Amino acid sequence: MKAKLIDGKKISAKIREEVKNQVQARIQEGKSVPGLATVLVGEDPASHVYVRSKRRACEEAGINSIGHELPADVSQEKLEEVIRDLNANPEVHGILVQLPLPKGLDEEHALNTISLEKDVDGFHPVNIGRLAQKGREPFFIPCTPSGVIYLLKDTISSLEGMNAVVLGRSNIVGMPVALLLVRENATVTICHSRTKNLKDLVRTADILVAAIGKPEFVRGDWLKPGAVVIDVGVNRVDDPSKEKGYRLTGDVAFDEVLETAGAITPVPGGVGPMTIAMLLKNTLRAAELQD
Ligand code: NAP
Repeated sequence: MKAKLIDGKKISAKIREEVKNQVQARIQEGKSVPGLATVLVGEDPASHVYVRSKRRACEEAGINSIGHELPADVSQEKLEEVIRDLNANPEVHGILVQLPLPKGLDEEHALNTISLEKDVDGFHPVNIGRLAQKGREPFFIPCTPSGVIYLLKDTISSLEGMNAVVLGRSNIVGMPVALLLVRENATVTICHSRTKNLKDLVRTADILVAAIGKPEFVRGDWLKPGAVVIDVGVNRVDDPSKEKGYRLTGDVAFDEVLETAGAITPVPGGVGPMTIAMLLKNTLRAAELQD
């Protein structure tokens, strides 16, 4: 059996089109143009690439994109002054501080400075705290985890009662994905670098979300046949046959898993494009909250 491909590119394109139409509609109603401010600190090349593609996606959706670039040695005070100015700016509905911040800056303190209503990345400690609590609603849900759940719900109608295994417990992917799966009434196992019998746990999964950053770590024979696999990992692997000298691969051995899984996301073209689509959705929501 060959697994069904979960086409994140196609699904995200549909979401982006919907956001674009909703932005146009609100402008026609005389409402404000949604605005997203990005705060990029330092010279990390990957962060520059991510911010550039987020800003381009905003422009394509009719969302104003306001970029702030700060040097790696910026002081905590200056960074937080920039964030406070953006909090006070009515043309800015969403604020995204690109992570990771350079060493020496206090990430939690900086994120805590973002106004809750503008926290479109969903990483403000209060938004994350609400995500973890029953009966509480965060203003925003982090974009990559929210993209993961969107893809799952697009593939399986209900996640209720399913055994979900999440590989990774990071603040930005693994843990919020696990919290969201619990909200969907899945039964969740979180695995990390100290987990014993990882293969046996993976074998219990109706749903597997891999977010560990290790190329092709999950092998095809680990899976329960028919499992739905969401591969969040993005890893560069040397490949002299490619023009750039490398190729991108996920945390899952795609070709092997294709034979056993019920459905799987490719890398690239799976979760990655969903992250940006969810950011646009969150920015539109921020503008609506602030109308
Ligand atoms: P991270 O902060 O480095 O966290 C990695 C997690 O994996 C940690 O919880 C770690 O456990 C766990 N881990 C590491 N080695 C393991 C092993 N051998 N067995 C089991 N667990 C192990 O990474 P991240 O930021 O969550 O990102 C994970 C991957 O997703 C990366 O490839 C990243 O590039 C990708 N990503 C993609 C998107 C997207 O939009 N597609 C967005 C964000 C991230 P400990 O906690 O014990 O250290």
